[in-house]
Amino acid sequence: MDIRNIIIVGSGPAGLTAAVYAARGELKPLVIEGYQSGGQLMLTTEVENFPGFSKGIMGPELMKEMRSQAERFGTEFITADATKVDLSGEIKKVWVGDTEYQAKTVIVSTGASARLLGLKNESRLMGRGVSTCATCDGFFFKDKPIAVIGGGDSAMEEANFLTRFASKVYLVHRREEFRASKIMLDRARSNSKIEFITNTEVEDILGDDGVVGMSIKNSKTGDTRQLDVEGVFVAIGHTPNTKLFEGQIDLDDHGYVQTKAQKSEVSGTSKAGVFACGDVQDKRYRQAITAAGSGCAAALDAEHYLNSH
Ligand code: NAP
Repeated sequence: MDIRNIIIVGSGPAGLTAAVYAARGELKPLVIEGYQSGGQLMLTTEVENFPGFSKGIMGPELMKEMRSQAERFGTEFITADATKVDLSGEIKKVWVGDTEYQAKTVIVSTGASARLLGLKNESRLMGRGVSTCATCDGFFFKDKPIAVIGGGDSAMEEANFLTRFASKVYLVHRREEFRASKIMLDRARSNSKIEFITNTEVEDILGDDGVVGMSIKNSKTGDTRQLDVEGVFVAIGHTPNTKLFEGQIDLDDHGYVQTKAQKSEVSGTSKAGVFACGDVQDKRYRQAITAAGSGCAAALDAEHYLNSH
C-alpha cells in the first residue's frame, strides 16, 4: 500500500491552509475533505475580517479559492467522510468506508458543528422552518417573521443578515448579557427590524409541517407565551467534530483535541505524528484566520516531524 507523507482530515480554512503548505513543501498531501467540504465558512455570508479582502468576500467563495490554491500545488482530494482511524502505530491508518489509506503523519482539522437546543420539534422541523444556516435558508423567509436564538456573534450576524429577507427578526437570548462583540451587538441593536427578547428560553417550537411559532418562557418572571414566527434559526455555538478520534488522541472535557502535547510543536497531539488545527482544537478564538494560521503551523510541524524521523 502507498504510504503517504500526510493525510489531512477536514477541509475548512485550517485543513486547506495545511494542504497549501504541505503541497508547496512537495509532500503531496491527501485531503479527505468530507461530503460537506469547506467547513463553517460554507454556511456564512460576507467575511469582513479575513485579511487581504478589503471589500469582504463571501464565505463559500473564500473556501473555493483556498481549495483551488491547495489543488494547484498538487493536493489530492477525496470527497467523502473519513469513517475510521487507527493512529496507534508509526504508520497511521485512515479509512473511507472499506478503503484504507496510510500515512506517516495525520493532520486533524475536522472543525466543529452547530449546537442544537435539543428540543424534539427542533429536529423534526429541521429544514422545514428550523435552520442553523442563515445563508442557506434565509431566502425562504421573505417577508415572514422569524427568530434567531443565541447571544453570540453568530446570532448577531445571522439576525442582521436575515433582516434582508424577513419582515421581522426576534433575537431570543437566555440571559441579559451578551457574549457577542460590541461592534456586532451594536449593529444588531441599531437595526430597526430586530427586536431583542432577553432572559428568555425556548420551551418548544410549534408546527406540524412547518414552523408556526415558538413557546418561550421568561426566566425572570416565569411567564410563558407564544411568539408567532415562521422560521427559527438556532445560533448557539458549536461542538467539535471529534467522534472519529475518541480513544485515539487526547480530548479535553468538552471534546476538543488537546494540542501542544509535544515539546516545540504548537499543533502536536498526544500521539507523535498526529497534529491538529482549527476549530477542532480551538474553543477560544474560532476565527477563520486563526484556523488558517494553525493549519500553517500544523503543516510545518508535520514537515519537521517527517524530516526528523
Ligand atoms: P458563542 O460565542 O459560543 O455563543 C453562543 C451563544 O448561544 C451564547 O450567547 C450562549 O448563551 C447561547 N447558548 C448556548 N447554548 C444554548 C442553549 N442550549 N440554549 C440557549 N442559548 C444557548 O458562539 P458563536 O456565536 O457561534 O461564536 C463562536 C465564535 O465565532 C466566537 O468567537 C465569535 O466571536 C466567532 N464569530 C465571529 C464572527 C465575525 O467576526 N463575523 C461571526 C460569527 C462568529 P450564554 O451566553 O448564556 O452562554
